[in-house]
Amino acid sequence: MPRPRRVPRRLCVTLATFALAIAAGAVAITVAAPPVAAAPCNGYVGLTYDDGPNAGTTNALLNALTSAGARATFFNIGQKAQQNQALVRAQQSAGMWIGNHSWTHPHLTQMSAAQMTSELSQTQQAIQQATGSAPRLFRPPYGETNATLKSVEAQLGLTEVLWSVDSQDWNGASTSQIVQAASTLQNGGVILMHDGYQTTINAIAQIVANLSSRGLCPGMISPSTGRAVAPDGTQPTNPPTNPPTNPPTNPPTNPPTNPPTQGGCSAGVTLNSWNGGFVATVRVTAGSSGTNGWTVSMTLPSGAAITSSWNTQRSGTSGAVTFTNVSFNGRIAAGQSTEFGFQGTGSGSGMTPSCRAT
Ligand SMILES: [Zn+2]
Repeated sequence: MPRPRRVPRRLCVTLATFALAIAAGAVAITVAAPPVAAAPCNGYVGLTYDDGPNAGTTNALLNALTSAGARATFFNIGQKAQQNQALVRAQQSAGMWIGNHSWTHPHLTQMSAAQMTSELSQTQQAIQQATGSAPRLFRPPYGETNATLKSVEAQLGLTEVLWSVDSQDWNGASTSQIVQAASTLQNGGVILMHDGYQTTINAIAQIVANLSSRGLCPGMISPSTGRAVAPDGTQPTNPPTNPPTNPPTNPPTNPPTNPPTQGGCSAGVTLNSWNGGFVATVRVTAGSSGTNGWTVSMTLPSGAAITSSWNTQRSGTSGAVTFTNVSFNGRIAAGQSTEFGFQGTGSGSGMTPSCRAT
């Protein structure tokens, strides 16, 4: 990993001021006003930072979050947490939530149940030792999971947290690409980022300003659902029993690659894959007439099978599969969008969704 460059404090302030100006639009603001307090929160998203704590970046990351008035979830590597207990306590005192990201960051799905238990429980102990309490959230390295791992998590009282948006910061994304990725977050969603990149730190002020302009605020990740909720753990106003609420009031900043046909809808799929499995996030965007309901069809590659899905009613687990809206996400106004997702075994690559408005 390249050694992160230090950014002069003055530049941080300039960026933050610029972000505030975007957030406030035409409204005059005072520099003292925290950006988040100004806008109402109609929904919450989870900002997550994996692979710390790191002596070179954690403090700068915490400073950037604090300056932006944002709280985030840190999925710490246990071995690093034990070696840098002061940084874990710094995360805690900055108001951040702390999760478990395994002891050595291995490919857990290639390990035995006993090895998995050791990776997770050692990390629980190290973080408990540093902060006084053991995590409730667990993010599997590489997003790789299976039934054995899920049962180990359950035994330790951990909720598995994947993500709805991958910032690609680990893959060399620029600050503006990270900001762009975060602009696709929807209520309840979670974005994958890492403690270790200056690009990621530099993105924070703009991410928070963009969220604020869409009525979204950084929140905590609920240990009962694995999705983002208000910082005190309560759901946003008038939620369904299970995430997300209404479609967003603002159109997404980046349109899907295939534009919706007039009056219909379109769907695009984003994949997070690993050896032997995948999570697919499908974005449904309404055409010029909006929708009262929708059905997305796609054919899974041979050998792929769906093990779970969310925010949709699904028929089929392999081959030709259809996904229909549930009660809270069928109605999409013109040009707006919603998301659903599913997890599967095998390879999910090459799926081409088609959408029909109903
Ligand atoms: Zn990781």
